[in-house]
Amino acid sequence: MNDPGVALGVLLFVALLVGGFIWFLSWASQSLTKRIFCLACGSTAETRRVMPGSLLVEVVAWCCFLLPGLIYSLWRHSAAFSGCGKCHSRSIVPLDSPVAQAAYTREISQRISAPSPSFRP
Ligand SMILES: [Zn+2]
Repeated sequence: MNDPGVALGVLLFVALLVGGFIWFLSWASQSLTKRIFCLACGSTAETRRVMPGSLLVEVVAWCCFLLPGLIYSLWRHSAAFSGCGKCHSRSIVPLDSPVAQAAYTREISQRISAPSPSFRP
């Protein structure tokens, strides 16, 4: 194991294995999108996988330094969460929850009671 070529090969193999695993996790989580109500922006939207950090930093770290790139990728993908598709907030609830139903009912009643801007007596 003193040969640097073998060590580099093992490191590349591990990087490809971890990269494939991370790709599989992101592929699997994207198929689990569902409609939610966002408590932060008040919208109903599809969930979206939100990852902290920056893709640009991740790519640079992989290109320049293999090990920090691997660590950075592991951190980004392990800290990812399912958030609001519009504002990326974590404060989401299912559409059939009492909070979402109350907000939806309140919004409908405001639309009904608000005067129409095109209506002129
Ligand atoms: Zn939102």
